[in-house]
Amino acid sequence: MSPQAPLLGEFGAPPPGHRLGSNQQLDMPMRRYRDSECVDYCIVGVGSAGGVLLQRLARGGFQVVGLEAGPFWDTERDWVSDEAGSHQLYWNELRITGGENPLALGANNSGRGVGGGSVHWAAFVPRFHPSDFRVHTLDGVGVDWPIAYADLKPYYELIEREMPASGPPHFPWGDPHGYPYGPHPLGGNGNILVTGCTRLGIPVCIGGPVAILAGSRGDRPHCIYRGFCIQGCKVGAKQSTLISHVPDALAHGAEVRDHCMAARIELGDDGRVTGVIFFDREGRERRQLAKAVIVCGYAIETPRLLLNSACPGFEHGLANSSGTLGRYLMAQAGNVVLGRFDELVRQYKAPPAHALTEEFYETDPARGFARGFAVQTVGPLPIAMARQFAVAKGAWGWGLRQVMMDSNHWGAIALLGEILPWEDNRVEIAEEKDRHGLPVAKVTFNLHENDKKLIEFGKRKVMEIMRAAGATEVVQEDRYAHLVGAARMGSDPRASVVDAFGRTHDIPNLFICDGSILPTQGSANPGLTIQALAARTADYLIREGAAVFSGGKHSMEAPPLRRDLSPPDTWGHGVPTMS
Ligand SMILES: Cc1cc2nc3c(=O)[nH]c(=O)nc-3n(C[C@H](O)[C@H](O)[C@H](O)COP(=O)(O)OP(=O)(O)OC[C@H]3O[C@@H](n4cnc5c(N)ncnc54)[C@H](O)[C@@H]3O)c2cc1C
Ligand code: SF4
Repeated sequence: MSPQAPLLGEFGAPPPGHRLGSNQQLDMPMRRYRDSECVDYCIVGVGSAGGVLLQRLARGGFQVVGLEAGPFWDTERDWVSDEAGSHQLYWNELRITGGENPLALGANNSGRGVGGGSVHWAAFVPRFHPSDFRVHTLDGVGVDWPIAYADLKPYYELIEREMPASGPPHFPWGDPHGYPYGPHPLGGNGNILVTGCTRLGIPVCIGGPVAILAGSRGDRPHCIYRGFCIQGCKVGAKQSTLISHVPDALAHGAEVRDHCMAARIELGDDGRVTGVIFFDREGRERRQLAKAVIVCGYAIETPRLLLNSACPGFEHGLANSSGTLGRYLMAQAGNVVLGRFDELVRQYKAPPAHALTEEFYETDPARGFARGFAVQTVGPLPIAMARQFAVAKGAWGWGLRQVMMDSNHWGAIALLGEILPWEDNRVEIAEEKDRHGLPVAKVTFNLHENDKKLIEFGKRKVMEIMRAAGATEVVQEDRYAHLVGAARMGSDPRASVVDAFGRTHDIPNLFICDGSILPTQGSANPGLTIQALAARTADYLIREGAAVFSGGKHSMEAPPLRRDLSPPDTWGHGVPTMS
């Protein structure tokens, strides 16, 4: 169907045989808005946060259009159980990288397509610790969040049910808690982590927390343990907003316009945004009018869009009166440690994410640096492994073939270390342009003293665990994981871009809600926190109602928690927990 077709036809609950999710069929009815219609909300980017917002706002009765640069995946047609065949899941378009410790951008970095990064994520879903929200107060580094752990806790609990998350009945770190679904069995890498940690007296947690079904729920089957999570999970056992939230959004009247790249956000004479200019799948420039805009493009594309939307009054980027837009970009240290064992490991026979320890998460003054790290299982498939052997072992040619023929004897575990927010780590606009003629992002990244000490200590600890597990050879690869920051939230409009609910300090009907608003990142994977923040912002917008559009005085009071907005099956029964 042409994306311009002026269809305002049938929509509602999918008829039998038409569904999204595993085995989805895309001929499900979807409401389509005309370009000339001014919708309530235009959401840019239907990824982890954008998918949750789209679903909540549609259920809340708003007219919502989601513009998504990538495709609306048909999991049956588009996804394959093949590592090389999944590379189209990533944002592979041009980005410029630099600095003393340049980030590898492109594949394995951020997502593109409905579901965004949640399509290719490993789905580890630990919560942030209470201390993460107060790192400046507690440790004198970084910055405090404008909200506390207690503000997000109800949304952690809610999203853990909506995903749903599987994990142990008692997770001992941070704010101790249990999980709605029971844990997964141990795979080869989990066994290595548990063995190594146990021999060293380090507490370790198995079977999650991970947003992968340990038992079937609704129309989603349980995990079949083939380790293709980062390739999209054709099975449908792993959560992505593509299968957990977007179908419900469509059933409640949201429109998702795929292959639509937002180019700039327009500002009206009254200082309020009026809509979004975008390029559709045919490359035509179009305009979606909206009463409010929410940018959910993630840590690089969100600042890029706002910087590209510079206009009179905001010459240095829309909503950038503070000058902080693009700054304080963070990645986590993600060094991968590989170990060879005499016995077979067969690490692919499990989800990459299924065991971890957060015993080193908090600051320990004896270590000589602030903040800490987690140690987690990973599960590189052959192409990723070959690359890691090339870097970590210098293996090449016949040597690489030999080590790959031996790869079932190798296991992998990884560091997940907190790198602090630094002003010079930033996203700017490059001179180079993309296929639409839009300037691309230029990313600068430097490690600072605290980061270097933390990484050095952390990688030695992970190697120690690998050796304690019985590895006869241990090598490691320096790398980074996850991206957050670059449009941070804060109470002070001079030092942050958005407030505690994602509203830009400068423009009352422009919001940002995605990983870019995180002020610090802890050493927990960020996806759960990003989706929880989106659910909280949605509750806020629904409570505020039309006041968001009229731009009058707005409340900063916490909204009531809307459990009634959860997608179907959220409160159903799965594999019972033991608590
Ligand atoms: C290999 C890998 C494994 C990971 N594993 C984990 C894990 O185990 N646990 C975890 O918590 N996190 C994990 N992550 C990170 C996680 O996926 C991201 O932090 C999260 O998805 C970010 O959510 P978001 O909503 O901010 O952005 P995204 O989910 O990336 O969504 C942004 C969306 O916006 C779209 N977009 C951007 N710009 C535009 C534009 N101009 N116009 C239209 N659309 C646009 C993009 O196409 C994308 O779909 C992993 C990441 C990678 C790369
Ligand atoms: S291991 Fe489980 S969650 Fe991962 S891709 Fe396979 S079925 Fe999906």
